[in-house]
Amino acid sequence: MSFVIPPDAVSWIDVAPDSDFPIQNIPFGQAYIKGKGEVLVAAIGDQALVLPELLDAGLLDIEDYPALFGFYDIDRSALYTLRERLYEILHKKNGELRDNKNLRKRALVPISSLRLQTPIPPASFVDFYSGIHHASNVGQMFRPTMDPLLPNYRHLPVAYNGRANTVIPDGVNVVRPKGQILPPDAETPIYAPCKGLDFELEMGVYVAEGQDMGKRITCKAAESHMLGMVICNDWSARDIQKWEYQPLGPFLAKSFATSVSPWIVTMDALAPFKVEGMDQDPEVLPHLRRQGQQHYDIHLEVSLQSEKMKKPQVICTSNMSHLYWSISQQLAHMTSNGCPVDFGDLYATGTISGPKEGEFGSMLELTWRGEKPLKLEETGEERKFLQDGDTITIRAWGQGEGFRVGFGSCTGKILPAN
Ligand code: CA
Repeated sequence: MSFVIPPDAVSWIDVAPDSDFPIQNIPFGQAYIKGKGEVLVAAIGDQALVLPELLDAGLLDIEDYPALFGFYDIDRSALYTLRERLYEILHKKNGELRDNKNLRKRALVPISSLRLQTPIPPASFVDFYSGIHHASNVGQMFRPTMDPLLPNYRHLPVAYNGRANTVIPDGVNVVRPKGQILPPDAETPIYAPCKGLDFELEMGVYVAEGQDMGKRITCKAAESHMLGMVICNDWSARDIQKWEYQPLGPFLAKSFATSVSPWIVTMDALAPFKVEGMDQDPEVLPHLRRQGQQHYDIHLEVSLQSEKMKKPQVICTSNMSHLYWSISQQLAHMTSNGCPVDFGDLYATGTISGPKEGEFGSMLELTWRGEKPLKLEETGEERKFLQDGDTITIRAWGQGEGFRVGFGSCTGKILPAN
């Protein structure tokens, strides 16, 4: 059973109504703090709780949480129990931390003062392709004479094994990649900076309880194996991708960078936003069949800011419920051949486009392969793909009654190729 914090619960810490981190959320991150190294932190409003300080002060039980340095010493049930305890401590009726001024000074710091890391540097990264509107759009562009979806699309969640050591945290810049590109009308490729640099709007799931090689995770049990979700930006080099291998091209066109948001939002915090998801037709094979609500109503928003702009412009709004395959089906499929998964493995959903223009989760679709450049209202600039100095920020949140459970931001700025 999920531990759902009541919608009317209030903390003694002031939280703005549009904050991503009300008491109903309490997500976890990893911050580098001078003199302490990397420590586990939890977000509340615009503040972060430095958890080893609460442990030292005796507010957390040492037997339950031996260290709280990073995520490595903590499993799913310990993390979820910790969230329940933090809810108690943060509740407006609880004075344990509220009335201890000295401890508050040490244990509560502004999020803006922290260097937040990749929540867990993943040992493996898998990227799915489960946004059906994205897959249809890309199919139409690259295979105009064929059915936009390949025959397997509605039978299995297509994916590839990506690159784990280029998963980077929010705020880290992305250097424009170089690669082999076939110029228009040319017969042989050149090696040059990518001209078709793009973002992909995705959500990611961290695995908590792994599974041994030769065993499987069922669709029904999949959620109990998840630590929580983050936002993912699967940066993509379209011109490198096009020459590398069609239709996916998921090697050098993808391996240069993937950004993630800094907070792991627990499945318990996201439970109020569960929905049925879209119909699956034809019916999928029994081992991938959904059990109850396994999709999420999570608002998604992408903004772009060029170096000349003073404010970012929202270029896409979408929703996680536009995924054809649920994150549970993805995990069940990933292990359906006996492939093991481990604590801290990360998988991303695929680009989550909505059905309408303005809901497309990549520049490729928003500008229809550059044919319809995007206008930046503030400066009159145009974009087919991303230029040097452009910053992409992705935000995501579930909207509750009077509060939102959000993820913080997943931001990256493009630097020139070197
Ligand atoms: Ca992708």
